[in-house]
Order: sequence, then structure tokens, then C-alpha cells
Amino acid sequence: MSDCLFCKIVRGEIPSRKVYEDEQVYAFHDINPARPVHFLIVPKQHITSLATAGEADAPVLGRMLAVAGRLAAEQGSPDGFRVIINTGRVGQQEVEHLHAHIVGGPDPVGPMLKRI
Ligand code: AMP
Ligand code: ZN
Repeated sequence: MSDCLFCKIVRGEIPSRKVYEDEQVYAFHDINPARPVHFLIVPKQHITSLATAGEADAPVLGRMLAVAGRLAAEQGSPDGFRVIINTGRVGQQEVEHLHAHIVGGPDPVGPMLKRI
């Protein structure tokens, strides 16, 4: 997906504040953070959304969640966090490359988040 925003970030064609990367996933700070800790974990390979992911994507989907806790702690949210995966039109997904929002900080994030 040559014109996909997050594919361009993964390739380094658009700058990002990197949190982590391995062979399967890339994590970077959200450009418009909703809480003190707010970063995104994306598959390096283009997957449009959780609605289009399939069983073959299970390893990378697992990796996204498997690294979340350590990265959240490293970024300043050691006592928990929220994972949000907006999906498709109904889920109000804006960027059509699968991404998990990791949202946290020293204080509880509240019952819901208004803008993600
Ligand atoms: P969603 O509504 O779940 O698709 O969320 C997309 C998220 O991507 C939003 O929280 C944006 O702030 C974030 N975002 C958009 N462009 C960039 C960018 N260039 N770098 C980092 N985060 C971005
Ligand atoms: Zn993409």
C-alpha cells in the first residue's frame, strides 16, 4: 500500500516518534495524544482493519498485544492502560491501516475516551 499513511511511517517516509519496532510490528507516539501516554502499535505489513484481518494474521495480532504491556510501562503507564482498536465505519476508524491505541498515564483514563 504505497499511499497508506501508516505504511509510509513504517517505511520511514513520514517521520514518527518511534517507541519500538521488531520484525512484525512498529510502535510510535500518536501525533495528537489523548492522554499523557498514547502510542500506536501497527503491523508492519499492511492490514486494513480488524474487520479484514484473518486467521493468517494471528501471529502479528498476537505480537501487537504481547508487547503492549512492556511498552506501556516503559512509556510511563506501569499500572495499566487501555487498548482501543477502532474498526471500520461503525468503529469510526480514520486511518485505514490496523492500529492499536495504547492509552494511559499516571491517572485513570476515565470511563470512556471522547475523541478516540
Ligand atoms: P483512528 O481514529 O483509530 O483511525 O486513529 C488514528 C490516529 O492516528 C489518531 O489518534 C491520530 O492522531 C493518529 N495519527 C494520524 N496521523 C498521524 C501521524 N502522522 N503520526 C502519528 N499519529 C498520527
Ligand atoms: Zn498501510
